[in-house]
Amino acid sequence: MLHVIYGRDSYSMVRELLESMSPEKEWNKDALIALKPNLVVSKPSDSGATTSPQVTRGVIEHLIEKGFNNLVIMESSWVGDSTMKAFKVCGYEKLAREYNIDLIDMKKDKAIKKKGKNLTISLCEMVLEIDYLINLPVLKSHCQTRLTCALKNLKGLIPDKEKRRFHDLGLHKPIAELNSLVKTDLIIVDAVIGDLTHEEGGNPVEMGRIIGGTDPVLVDSYSAELIGVEVEEIPYISMSNQMGIGKLFNNDTVVKEYRLDNYPQITLKPSPRVRRLAEHIEEGGACSPCYGALIHALSRLEERGALEKIPVKIFIGRKYKDIESSSLGIGMCTAKFNRNVSGCPPKARDIVKYLEEHFINN
Ligand code: SF4
Repeated sequence: MLHVIYGRDSYSMVRELLESMSPEKEWNKDALIALKPNLVVSKPSDSGATTSPQVTRGVIEHLIEKGFNNLVIMESSWVGDSTMKAFKVCGYEKLAREYNIDLIDMKKDKAIKKKGKNLTISLCEMVLEIDYLINLPVLKSHCQTRLTCALKNLKGLIPDKEKRRFHDLGLHKPIAELNSLVKTDLIIVDAVIGDLTHEEGGNPVEMGRIIGGTDPVLVDSYSAELIGVEVEEIPYISMSNQMGIGKLFNNDTVVKEYRLDNYPQITLKPSPRVRRLAEHIEEGGACSPCYGALIHALSRLEERGALEKIPVKIFIGRKYKDIESSSLGIGMCTAKFNRNVSGCPPKARDIVKYLEEHFINN
């Protein structure tokens, strides 16, 4: 089962989601709980690269209220950046001070080798000491692996030397192996703002939601659809599924949605790349989960060199409700258009499929 809450106020969204999910129900009150955000680079969350401290604040306050006080925040930024700098720039230094929580820079930890199913991996030693791991990834596209979300976020729990080896090994197999060694107990995906193209941010896109779950394969296969990437394009997801780490998202998966009457509007100033994609769009009062899906879909087509084959403007937004038109519209608001991709909000994958079928493959 997956949980999805819509909005922009990450803190209250996380509080509501966790109150409903109650992931801690069976947890031992003395347990050491590690929160693992994505602070891959020293950039604030509105860059699309890192987990908002408001998401992490929501998790911390929920746990403290339920009687859990043994919490740490652990991360290791990518090889070219300083984790301590990322903690400061991304607002985690202040957060940790406020709640008296230790920030652990995993780059400073000792390495310990652990044998996975088909690969031996060096882990940061402290990973073996924690009782529960809460994974707090950001929903981003990735130039090399196509998606970075829950499964890939665990790369911040290995030494820098091992991160380089992961790249030499092509990322997919070692990411799946890493997840067979490190169990995630809860996943809260920051999909309020993610990135269109790369894990280091720079092309932020509002997707206006937070996703909760306990199965990283399920979370990632669902998230892939949201940004218009086929699961088959991301080998580490199917490898993880075959290794028994989790189930793939399908039509039978239950998705419990919250605040369906509270889709946020678009607020971010578009990057040059997003602005270029938006030239294909006629927007009128669109909600960010809908508009973000369309931007991701157009970006996926652009990556394949197929964007120019779409000769029409695409309409999206509440302004077009009940309007009849022969144009192409996205989402329930444009249901009376002759050509329409349904959904409220639709997934980028469905938009990509429609555009491919009607404009590219024929
Ligand atoms: S279909 Fe309309 S109401 Fe639904 S998410 Fe899109 S713009 Fe918002």
